[in-house]
Amino acid sequence: MTDDLAVRLKAYEGRPAVAGATGKDPVNAPMIRHWCEALGDTHPAYTGPDAVAPPAMLQVWTMGGLSGHEARTDAYQELLALLDAAGCTSVVATDCEQEYLLPLRPGDTVTFDTVVESVTGPKSTRLGSGWFVTTRTDIRADGRLAGVHRFRILKYAPRGTRKERRPRPVINRDNAAYWEGVGRHELLVQRCAACRALRFPWLPGCPDCGSPDWDTVRASGEGTVFSYVVLHHPPFPAFDPPYAVGLIELAEGVRIVADLVGVPYDKVRIGMPVRLEFLRCDEELTVPVFRVREAAA
Ligand code: ZN
Repeated sequence: MTDDLAVRLKAYEGRPAVAGATGKDPVNAPMIRHWCEALGDTHPAYTGPDAVAPPAMLQVWTMGGLSGHEARTDAYQELLALLDAAGCTSVVATDCEQEYLLPLRPGDTVTFDTVVESVTGPKSTRLGSGWFVTTRTDIRADGRLAGVHRFRILKYAPRGTRKERRPRPVINRDNAAYWEGVGRHELLVQRCAACRALRFPWLPGCPDCGSPDWDTVRASGEGTVFSYVVLHHPPFPAFDPPYAVGLIELAEGVRIVADLVGVPYDKVRIGMPVRLEFLRCDEELTVPVFRVREAAA
């Protein structure tokens, strides 16, 4: 199977990837100035009436920009599609190598052709298994070869598509009894043994009177949405954005951060009545969540 794929991929070596392209802009002073400013390159050769372009700008004059490349060949698109079909749907640029033959100057019109120089693999990497595709672009100024740009990408099948587990809570001696309660499907709120103030999340001492002594009250599970956020980004593999996380005010008067369930993320509103449930995430982890009561949804 792989051998067959290798033969098919190797058939693209030597075939054009871009044919007869012209740079979108001639070599010009504003782009040279922006480049030099961005890189902090103050070399005097890049300014003034006899300026040349920095050699490392070679690829700049060939770039397609946001509107892309018009001159990309069908052969190159087929090669990429073949790799996609083999599961190598991700791409990462790995390295680039340039040769500078003639200086480019403002006013030069750049033309270029790109050829698929090699397709090698399969190679197993930390990102996943895939194939290296190396292209060589010959860049000409007014018809004369000015430089050569080699560019290598890895087209690979990303590893690790299994569903990730939720992050684990940090359990210590100050909150162990809370998580033991959750395991029994009880939401326990701490109560100061001295001043009777309720507190959540769990703390080793009372923020009101400083007493280290406490007992617990089992929350009824009734509450309302005090505030909430909708998470879009960054994505985390265990979660499926967008989703809503609420700051729930319990009937007992303390507040807890938890997932909101039973309501679309864009239908959550402050003041909605919610009721406690327990979500078994996996064989080791259960967490409290709050379901929006149907009359409110
Ligand atoms: Zn207290």
